[in-house]
Amino acid sequence: IPPVLAVIGRPNVGKSTLVNRIIGRREAVVEDTPGVTRDRVSYSAQWLGRPFTIVDTGGWEHDAKGIHASVAEQAEIAADVADAILFVVDSHVGATATDEAVVKMLRRKGKPVFLVANKVDDFNQEAEAAVLWGLGFGQPWPVSALHGRGTADLLDAVMEKL
Ligand code: GDP
Ligand code: MG
Repeated sequence: IPPVLAVIGRPNVGKSTLVNRIIGRREAVVEDTPGVTRDRVSYSAQWLGRPFTIVDTGGWEHDAKGIHASVAEQAEIAADVADAILFVVDSHVGATATDEAVVKMLRRKGKPVFLVANKVDDFNQEAEAAVLWGLGFGQPWPVSALHGRGTADLLDAVMEKL
């Protein structure tokens, strides 16, 4: 059975865009308005010839419980089934209270977590990503899921832990 990489984070940070980038296809639904992805959708992927399963999350985005509780809850479910986690943050927005709650939960899991600073579309935006060191999760990986910037380095690092 291939190892599982889960992609979690708040709505609209670019999770589905990143999943499409990683699988090399456009199967994960990207929407300017959040709420389209079903709860969890798995895709087969590979990197450097090694197969893995990548799980997109996000269909709970209109949950009555509110975004904060839903993000934390769904992140926890995904984290439990995953061998490693991509925790995606929008570097233009920075870390929110919801992100902080996810960080606390992820620490308890003790699984490998990669903090992905998405939407770093060019070099000038790297500073925004660096601020995310403040989440206390180690090195933020600056990527642009939209343009593919930084995703190869990220995947190289992920494969060492998957
Ligand atoms: P999700 O809700 O986390 O799955 O986010 P989506 O993948 O649906 O993306 C939400 C919005 O962010 C869409 O309009 C995307 O085109 C945009 N987006 C995603 N990745 C990037 C990126 O790297 N740079 C920029 N500028 N926009 C992005
Ligand atoms: Mg999505």
